[in-house]
Amino acid sequence: MRLTLATHNSHKLSEFERLLPGCELVALPQGSDPPVEDGSTFAANALIKARAGAATSSAATIADDSGICVAALDGAPGVLSARWAGEGCDDAANLERLIELTEPGDRLEYRCVIAYCDPESGLELTFEGSCEGSRAPEPRGDGGFGYDPAFEPDEFPGRTMAELSAAEKDSISHRGRAAEAFRSWLTSQ
Ligand code: IMP
Repeated sequence: MRLTLATHNSHKLSEFERLLPGCELVALPQGSDPPVEDGSTFAANALIKARAGAATSSAATIADDSGICVAALDGAPGVLSARWAGEGCDDAANLERLIELTEPGDRLEYRCVIAYCDPESGLELTFEGSCEGSRAPEPRGDGGFGYDPAFEPDEFPGRTMAELSAAEKDSISHRGRAAEAFRSWLTSQ
């Protein structure tokens, strides 16, 4: 199946290419303006991105919204994960903020919602995935992106997401689990 993938994040594009092997993913044209993500939930923002991508491409589109939630900070940064350290900040600044504001062992959760929009039928669906873990004593590893060097998933004690292989991350990640839910819906069609 051919799907538009509405993302400007190259790490997400490569993760989705691995996670949806039967799908031909077509990225949005370079230079297309990303929509304003002003939803208060991951699902609302994923739908904003998928609707905008469907309007631009006139084709069935998926988009995800994801982030990290810190239990000790009442779920922050949540939907603000990409810009926690300030508008226009990079992954390194966000990671530094996580290290500053949390203690080793604090409970963390990655969450992801994939939205699917088909402009022809008007069908809109969302699929969720999450991954629980704890804050590593110090950032470690070169893989993944974002907060991965500080996130020790419960399924791989003593290793951070950034120390897992791509296949290991996919098997337990929030995005991997949301993609699995999407794939099983797709194959039931
Ligand atoms: P989005 O592009 O608005 O969904 O922003 C997601 C943000 O959450 C990213 O910029 C990262 O900071 C963080 N994030 C989401 N998924 C991951 C992941 O798999 N690893 C590390 N950080 C992630």
